[in-house]
Amino acid sequence: MLNVENIRKDFPILSRKVNGKPLVYLDNAATSQTPQQVIDVIVDYYSNYNANIHRGVHTLSQEATDLYEASRKKIQAHFNAKFSHEIIFTSGTTHGINLVANGFSSILKKDDEIIVSALEHHSNIVPWQMLCERTGAILKVIPMNDEGELIISEFDALLSKTTKLVFVNHISNALGTINPIEYIIGKAHEVGAAVLIDGAQSTPHIKPDLQALDVDFYVTSAHKICGPTGIGMLYGKEEWLKKIPPYQGGGEMIAEVTFEKTTYAELPHKFEAGTPNICGGIAFGAAIDYMNNIGFDTIAAYENELLEYGTEKLLQIEGLKIYGVSKHKTSVISFNLEGIHPYDVGTILDKLGIAVRTGHHCAQPIMDFYKIPGTVRASFAFYNTKAEIDALVEGVKKAKMMLS
Ligand code: PMP
Repeated sequence: MLNVENIRKDFPILSRKVNGKPLVYLDNAATSQTPQQVIDVIVDYYSNYNANIHRGVHTLSQEATDLYEASRKKIQAHFNAKFSHEIIFTSGTTHGINLVANGFSSILKKDDEIIVSALEHHSNIVPWQMLCERTGAILKVIPMNDEGELIISEFDALLSKTTKLVFVNHISNALGTINPIEYIIGKAHEVGAAVLIDGAQSTPHIKPDLQALDVDFYVTSAHKICGPTGIGMLYGKEEWLKKIPPYQGGGEMIAEVTFEKTTYAELPHKFEAGTPNICGGIAFGAAIDYMNNIGFDTIAAYENELLEYGTEKLLQIEGLKIYGVSKHKTSVISFNLEGIHPYDVGTILDKLGIAVRTGHHCAQPIMDFYKIPGTVRASFAFYNTKAEIDALVEGVKKAKMMLS
């Protein structure tokens, strides 16, 4: 059982006020809040260890390197990667996807096919469109249904020997739908295609076993799981990371440099050019420790309770429609009030101290599918309460009254 009142004490920001009201933070799918335990690690790093890593002989540099590399191992263990060098530190999900898309520039040929889903965040669409422009490859799209689920029979029909790569999110940020990635990975592998899973929205709710999934690439951002912004990870199977070329050139990623020819460093450094976000990498590990101390099963069970409670309460408001009603979804409720622009609802909620996201959530194709400009999105984390959902419901009722 999760003791939410105790957990809330870990998050200093949750006791602040916004517009004179206690903050009700329901924008967790955009970014999560940071517990004191992670803040302490950040302060400790800059107070005691700040130094550049990997190339220093002095004590601070070695200590910072040890902390950074220990964090990589922690992340490896958490995601059950086979080797720690399969974990590449990135600046976030977007960076990881671009790194892989760039790597495939030298692999894809004209008329090769790559498959995306209709449920993607723009960061899992645009880099692949750019890749198609560079290579002449063709982008195919798995369509979605009214419930906000992928139409998997259509995916089966799209797959062929010319499919080289499939990239889908594990969980949709706009609707909360959990995609059947085990099936998608298995089917893609049958035709010899590689699979990248965008885990930005799953990492906060699920502890994925990357070896069991047999996925080729998996990307996420630390800020979605109580870590800082500007740090994330790309997992890649060793064989793939050896095959694809480096994304950026610079210091740290080389074995030897001459003006005639440069050779690259071994994994993971081949993909980590320049001074990395050292503190962020260390804090990423601390965030994973924090989440694991609570336990992902406990987190998921509690968040499901919040999802059920919030769904039932919000649906009692006449004229409120929820988008994304799959049975397989996480604690995200995307909704609109009939005839009212989501931005106006969000603005009134903010006046009441309630933080939600409004707009297309970087997933314009989903909004186009529903023929709406956007939604109001409330996304719950394990530190939210039913009382906060009650405040949301009251706020939405008030917005409806004021805007109708
Ligand atoms: N994919 C999904 C599903 C996301 O939710 C997000 C963040 N909203 C991203 C990708 C991009 O993550 P970042 O901005 O941290 O790179």
